[in-house]
Order: sequence, then structure tokens, then C-alpha cells
Amino acid sequence: MIKQAVVASGLKPGLAVVLVGEDPASQVYVGAKGRKAEELGFHSVQHTLSAATSEADVLALVRALNADPAIHGILVQLPLPGHINAAAVLETIDPAKDVDGFHPINVGRLAIGEPERALISCTPAGCLLLIKRAVGRPLAGLDALVIGRSNIVGKPMAQLLLQESCTVTIAHSKSRDLAALARRADILVAAVGRPEMVRGDWVKEGAVVIDVGMNRIPAPERGAGKTRLVGDVAYTEASLRASAITPVPGGVGPMTIAMLMANTLTAACRAAGIQPPH
Ligand code: NDP
Repeated sequence: MIKQAVVASGLKPGLAVVLVGEDPASQVYVGAKGRKAEELGFHSVQHTLSAATSEADVLALVRALNADPAIHGILVQLPLPGHINAAAVLETIDPAKDVDGFHPINVGRLAIGEPERALISCTPAGCLLLIKRAVGRPLAGLDALVIGRSNIVGKPMAQLLLQESCTVTIAHSKSRDLAALARRADILVAAVGRPEMVRGDWVKEGAVVIDVGMNRIPAPERGAGKTRLVGDVAYTEASLRASAITPVPGGVGPMTIAMLMANTLTAACRAAGIQPPH
């Protein structure tokens, strides 16, 4: 669908991904994003900088990308090395090119109910698409529980569901009786980072369950030292009660990359003064 929209727009969206350091997980994510951008016919560039790069040099690169008309989306892969102030880097990205949706301008536009003027954080934007597809009717009035209140997932997820007129509860590590909160939820989004914390009997019959968590746990059955990825939800148990549930891996992760591409196309359309596809 994105590829068709790119062809229809006649544009060549440009995505620049900046990786500082050699974090293995970040290398995997950045590689996947670059491959998808190329597959879609984007102009795709990756800047790989050593872990010792100074904050000033990272900021200079971001400013150069801000000024480059062939680049419509800039993504600085997090986490950054400790000596670099991530907030300073993210706030230097031109909000119109902030395809991760982390700049305070984009966060603020979502919070004041102007998502059509913002670029929305990719993971929650992808979750909302999955929820809408699974529910199949307006979400207004549904009870939604978001477990997790991070700036990149939990908070924007809650804002998006509020925008859809859900009754939204945000839970976190200090929340009491999470199971009872979960059992009321028509929509349950888990973004915690705790393997299989949400049990099957927490899930309301017929609920839509979105599992954002990506937790690597030991998998001795696969051989010594092997690991596997699991979500924050006990999938097999929860799937007996949920009307729809995302698997880990293969659910929210690929949607996140798809939304990054959609944001880059949106940014390219806005730069060209044409209506972005919906
Ligand atoms: P953070 O660590 O930033 O936030 C985790 C949140 O979970 C916090 O708000 C924390 O509460 C809450 N929490 C921790 N323990 C509990 C508990 N026992 N009960 C209730 N809430 C709890 O994580 P992220 O939001 O960045 O990521 C969450 C998960 O999603 C991770 O597994 C991450 O790998 C995954 N992820 C997946 C993506 C994808 O594309 N699929 C993208 C981004 C993240 P408090 O604020 O009180 O500390």
C-alpha cells in the first residue's frame, strides 16, 4: 500500500538514519529500516558514526540533514552513547522531518488534538492501526488500558486512544491491581518490557490485545546459550479470550517499521505541498 502511494505521489521520499556506536540491537533495527526504505524505492541513507563521536558532531550532522532537500525524514537511533544528550539531538531535528515523532513540537501537537499536523511516534501509530482494523467500528466509548507510560510508547498510545474517544486508563509500575484494571479493558495495550506479565485470565472476553513488549529470554530447548523473543503478554493463554491479539515477534515490530515509512512519505508530501495519503 505504501509503495502504491509512493508511486502515485511521483515523489522520492528520502530517509536518513543515524546510528552512533555499535549497539547490536540498534544495528539490527537500523538495517531493517534501511532495507525497507530501499524496497519501497525511497532515497535511503545511513550515517554510521563511532561511539566516540562528539555531541557537537552529531548535532552538525543533524543540521546538515535538516538543510538537505533530498531528505524528508531523519531518524537518530536510540539509545545514544552516554556522553551525548539525546534530548538536545532530538530537539535539533526539524519537526517537519522528525519521522520518529519524538520532537516536543510533534508530541505537543498530538497532545492538543492536532495529530493531522504532527508526525506521530511510529509504534503507537502502528498499534492504533491494528486496533482499528481489529475492532472494525469507531472506538468511541470503549475502555482502553495502556500498561506503560514511556514517552515513546505508553503516553502517545494513550493520547491516540483518547483522540478516538476511548475511556483511557494508563497503568505503570505503581498502579494497584493491574489484573482488575485489565479485566475491564476492551482494548489492552502492554508496553512494559516484562516477559509474559499479562496473564490469560487478565484478559476480558473478546478484548483486542496489543503486545508491544520485546523481551529476550533464555531458550535452553533451542540449545545451550540460545534465546528467544517473547512479549509482555502470555500469548497462548490470552489468545483463548482475546478476539484479536498480536504475536511477538511479527506483530507490532513490523508495523513500527511500516509507520516509519508512512511518516517519511507524509513528510515528503507535506514538503512538496501535496496531500499525504491516509
Ligand atoms: P520503558 O522501560 O521506557 O517503560 C516501561 C513502562 O512499563 C514504564 O512506564 C514502567 O512504569 C512500566 N512498568 C514496569 N514494570 C511494571 C509493572 N510491573 N507493572 C506495570 N507497569 C510496569 O519501555 P518502553 O516503553 O520503551 O518499551 C516497552 C516495551 O516495548 C519493551 O519491551 C520494548 O522493548 C518494547 N518496544 C517495542 C517496540 C516495537 O517496535 N515492537 C518499540 C518500542 C518498545 P514506570 O513508569 O512507573 O517505571
